[in-house]
Amino acid sequence: MARIGFVGLGNMGGPMARNLVKAGHEVAVFDIVPELVARCAGARPAASAAEAARGAEFVLTMLPAGAQVRDAWLGAGGMAAASAAEAVLVDCSTIDVATAREVAAGSGRAFLDAPVSGGVMGAEGATLTFMVGGEEAAFARAEPVLRQMGRAAIHCGRAGAGQAAKACNNMILAATMIATCEAFVLAEKLGLSHQALFEVASKSSGQSWSLTTYCPVPGPVPGSPANRDYAPGFAAGLMLKDLGLAAEAAAATGAATPMGAQALALYRDFVAAGGGGTDFSGIIRMLREGA
Ligand code: NAD
Repeated sequence: MARIGFVGLGNMGGPMARNLVKAGHEVAVFDIVPELVARCAGARPAASAAEAARGAEFVLTMLPAGAQVRDAWLGAGGMAAASAAEAVLVDCSTIDVATAREVAAGSGRAFLDAPVSGGVMGAEGATLTFMVGGEEAAFARAEPVLRQMGRAAIHCGRAGAGQAAKACNNMILAATMIATCEAFVLAEKLGLSHQALFEVASKSSGQSWSLTTYCPVPGPVPGSPANRDYAPGFAAGLMLKDLGLAAEAAAATGAATPMGAQALALYRDFVAAGGGGTDFSGIIRMLREGA
């Protein structure tokens, strides 16, 4: 049993904090929305982010973006200064690599960036995957706690490496999803059935997670969002956010990512056309219309 502070109790953070309570930890929670604090039965409501951090062995945040993360830890939230000198601080939000490194350096504590994949279902079922950047020793201390909210925690390297892994992974995901969608649209024009393309590509070199788990047409993979009118799943709006972070990282480092840039442009169009709340595989509809 550990003393844990948890700040940011939204779609992801709420169930993650509740899983820590369920695991028997003493959890102090805070969110700027009081109703979300009230939903964390068994946790101790804190009056501020700094109060949630005070005296805890592990302090976690799950916030929308880099600005909120910087503000909570180093700015008005004052969480880093309020936390114990020997505490391990963990930010699970998806943010840009530069801010992750800035906050880690500015915290003066053992700090990990630990973004997740697995979505709301993964948060609820404690099946998330954590991609972690920071010192090995801090990772070793935090891993058992992370594993109570997920099924895997992978140490990726120094500060910012977790965010780097997330940006790279999701750039691959977006590009393979668009390519998979395009292949199904072409198959339709050629009179090739969805099932036939799936049978071939899933056993051939066209195989990918986008095809075999999130197949963008209904039928071949019964559990994929296409079978429920593209209800997410992984919302296109969140994919657009992640592609923006990848593009920012590419610009900052001078990496050439033309496919990533094209995926960003297509998801920007899809979200602008109202697709932000649908699953990211729903972009097939826009491609079918001849975007
Ligand atoms: P959310 O908007 O539901 O939750 C964020 C919470 O942070 C809100 O409850 C908000 O009130 C709170 N908050 C904002 N500023 C605060 C502050 N200064 N102090 C305290 N609380 C504050 O978002 P979410 O879906 O839970 O996502 C959180 C993070 O996880 C994001 O970075 C997102 O990109 C990432 N993520 C989300 C998913 C997903 O499927 N939702 C999947 C993977 C990663």
